[in-house]
This record gives sequence, C-alpha cells and structure tokens, in this order.
Amino acid sequence: MNGNGKKIVLRFPQEVADRPIVCELALRFGLQFNILRASISPHREGIMVMEVIGSREKQEEGLAFLASRGVLVEPLSQDIRMIEERCYHCGACVGLCPTGALFMERPSFLVRYDPGKCIACELCVLGCPARAMEALI
Ligand code: SF4
Ligand code: SF4
Repeated sequence: MNGNGKKIVLRFPQEVADRPIVCELALRFGLQFNILRASISPHREGIMVMEVIGSREKQEEGLAFLASRGVLVEPLSQDIRMIEERCYHCGACVGLCPTGALFMERPSFLVRYDPGKCIACELCVLGCPARAMEALI
C-alpha cells in the first residue's frame, strides 16, 4: 500500500449528510479509507472519523474536494480528556456528545466519560462551561 494514513474528522451539514460523497474519494482520487466511527449529532449533522490512505498529493486533492462540497474537514485530535476536578456534573456535555462517550451515571447523576467511545469531535470542549474537557494535540 502506497502513501500514509491520515486520520480526520468530517462534519457533514444536514443537506449533504445522506449523499455518498465519501465514495468519491476512492472513485475520483484513488484513495482508500477506513471509517473508524460515524454518527449523527443532536443537530442532525453527520460526523465521521476516518483514516484516508494514499499519497499526500491525492489526500490533499480529495479533502479539498470534500470541502468544496460543504464538508468540514479537520485533523483528528490525538486525545480528549476529562479534568475531573473541574467537572461539576451539570450535564451540558451529555446532550452535545454524539456518541454517548459522556453519559450520566444512575443513580448518582454524576457525569462520566468513556474514552473508548469518543470520536474527538470536540463538541464537549467547546460546550463545557467549566473547561473540564480538554483536547490534547
Ligand atoms: S459540561 Fe463540563 S462541567 Fe458540565 S458535566 Fe460536562 S464536563 Fe462536567
Ligand atoms: S469529543 Fe466530547 S462530545 Fe465529541 S465524542 Fe468525545 S466526549 Fe463526545
């Protein structure tokens, strides 16, 4: 297999979420891709985490093509962590998290974080009023 894999997060606006744009990466640019996670956010936006494999030049062309179709392309953050001392369990992030990685434990009503379900979309990082969710680059 030639070229390197690059992990990216794609956000599809509602208008394009149901179109097979991603297949064009293979058809038009000869790229291979592995879909690592995919989900629909509470706002009906599609979020997909994938590894794109191919030459750097083709990757750039393919990702530019996606961007031209209204898809927001971002590199995948290495890691998301919860700074537990800062969290006051308000629950705001639970409604934002598209994968259930942040959830309210019952019957304690404490908010917990399961890194294994996280796709590093960073919605919680932006939405947490206490800055308790952090992206490690
Ligand atoms: S939004 Fe922040 S403070 Fe609130 S539960 Fe989530 S991590 Fe904790
Ligand atoms: S970055 Fe935050 S909101 Fe996004 S999947 Fe991970 S825990 Fe959920």
